[in-house]
Amino acid sequence: MESTVSFLGSSIEFASKTEAAQLLGTSDAFSESMSAFDFSAKNENPFKNTEKDYLLFAAEQAKEWSTSDINDTKEVMKKIEEKVLKLGLKLKLPNTITLVLSTCAEEGGAEGYTRENYIVFKNKPSEHLFLHELWHIISRENQSLRDAAYEIIGFKKTGRIQFPAELESLRITNPDAPFIEHTIDVEIGDETKEVAICTMASAPYSEGSFFKYLMIVLYEATSIDGQMTLISSPPYAIDKVQGFREKIGNNTNYIIHPEEITAEHFTMMVMESDVKSQQQIDELKALLQK
Ligand SMILES: [Zn+2]
Repeated sequence: MESTVSFLGSSIEFASKTEAAQLLGTSDAFSESMSAFDFSAKNENPFKNTEKDYLLFAAEQAKEWSTSDINDTKEVMKKIEEKVLKLGLKLKLPNTITLVLSTCAEEGGAEGYTRENYIVFKNKPSEHLFLHELWHIISRENQSLRDAAYEIIGFKKTGRIQFPAELESLRITNPDAPFIEHTIDVEIGDETKEVAICTMASAPYSEGSFFKYLMIVLYEATSIDGQMTLISSPPYAIDKVQGFREKIGNNTNYIIHPEEITAEHFTMMVMESDVKSQQQIDELKALLQK
């Protein structure tokens, strides 16, 4: 590895371009779980629609870290480490976390995302971005902690939820949270419904970033023969249900998955940001101080 630095008991490695290409081109839980829409959209080509196409394209996006960007990122990590220690957080990190630099064209031009135990950045990260992505690494490493963190915002663990065939091809998969395994109860009229947040494409892929196709909707989920499955009746719009915002809080509009809401709460907690819904932040802090 080009450069290694110790961080909160973990070893952070900056991947060379060759190492980055190797990681980005290797199949994992995320690439294996992508839908037909994902493959076309993330290759930005409707005719390149296999996992192999995706992995080849992703590997080609690898970039080299510059020495000055490595030094700036080390400064960011130092500041985060001070804040985490001051707050008394006991973060359980994997032994190694690898930082990859990429054009991020393989993820629609996102600023950053994670797979396995590596974080992919488009540019040297800010403190906010580093913390957000760090949460995903912590969450992937500690599934029971993740479930407890999601409970703070009203989500309960259900086991992996399947998409019916008619929804499957338009599913958009988030590398930070490739699966839907938690539901939340909301009120619709005078009924309580168990729903999952789903990211779906508005149409089959033709061109451009997947972000312009992205719809965030709530599908009702139910157990069929012991398997949690989405019900493919029309989804609910988030602003049409009651009880959702009360549970997740009013701190962020990045609500595409409980994992992303929690990553934002984690970031706000460490940065001690002013927030609208303090309770969820305080509960997450208490959980991470244990
Ligand atoms: Zn994220």
